Amino acid sequence: MNDLIELLNSAKSGDRRSLSKLLTSIESGQTISPGSTDSWTLGVTGPPGVGKSTLIGKMISHWISDGQRVAILALDPTSPISGGSFLADRIRMEQGETGNDVFVRSIASGNQSGGIPYFLGEMCKVLSMCGWSRIVIETVGTGQSEIRIVAFAERVLLVDGPDRGDIIQAEKAGILELADVIAVNKADLPGAESAAQSIRFSLGLVDGDDRKIHLVSALDGSGVAQLISDIESCEPDDIRKELRMRERILSIWGSLLLTHPEIDSNIAKLCDGSITVNEAIQSMGLTLGLGANNWK
Ligand code: GDP
Repeated sequence: MNDLIELLNSAKSGDRRSLSKLLTSIESGQTISPGSTDSWTLGVTGPPGVGKSTLIGKMISHWISDGQRVAILALDPTSPISGGSFLADRIRMEQGETGNDVFVRSIASGNQSGGIPYFLGEMCKVLSMCGWSRIVIETVGTGQSEIRIVAFAERVLLVDGPDRGDIIQAEKAGILELADVIAVNKADLPGAESAAQSIRFSLGLVDGDDRKIHLVSALDGSGVAQLISDIESCEPDDIRKELRMRERILSIWGSLLLTHPEIDSNIAKLCDGSITVNEAIQSMGLTLGLGANNWK
């Protein structure tokens, strides 16, 4: 614990190596202190290729010129080829060598669903304590695990592109309901306006949903300032807050089960038929502090 406090203190005074080490400790399950600090976090999600990294690059420039310090947590799926760090590398490349006001950290999301994000909240807390005033969590794709990841952010931006297939993907995953702010990127290309129309149509099916669809171009910068201003001023409504809290509970719960010491032996026993699913859950549930009655 003392080591962690030392790391925290030197990270607070601006030492980036200490901050990296601190985040590594958190990734391996250590926690700094109970309680929470308010941090400004934005989850950015959307199908691959719609321009999330390019748009984040533009947002970083805007925030820095506004005197903010920006930290990016880039969630990459673990890939045997990239080692799970291509997102962060791309942001680094696009930003050049970013100076003192940008910090980029790549997090390999692994292959197990629900297996990682439980420490994200703690990471955001530490970054915030160390003076990072804008924290962006970026994911690839719009699957269930991405929803879980962005659920750790206080506000969520969905980025879509002119391609109708991308929008259907986001709708199917349920991310449209969870996003506070929605942007259709690549507005410089044909099809963006009709993509925005079709999202408006989906939102219109729900009474009282007045979220604006931003048409932006990360390439030429159009619409980006307005998008940022909307993100800054957005107040997540109660329904979206509830959805997010639900996802947070599910992901932390999933992680607790997936990292449980008996998970592999229970799976083996399930395969050979020596226990039932209920018995497996009950045996792990007891060590997680649940009463046996919960599983009857
Ligand atoms: P990500 O996978 O969602 O992070 O997408 P990237 O930021 O890597 O962008 C994917 C491709 O789309 C790249 O070739 C970008 O140069 C391009 N791109 C990003 N934004 C725009 C845009 O606003 N307009 C156009 N025409 N291309 C864009």
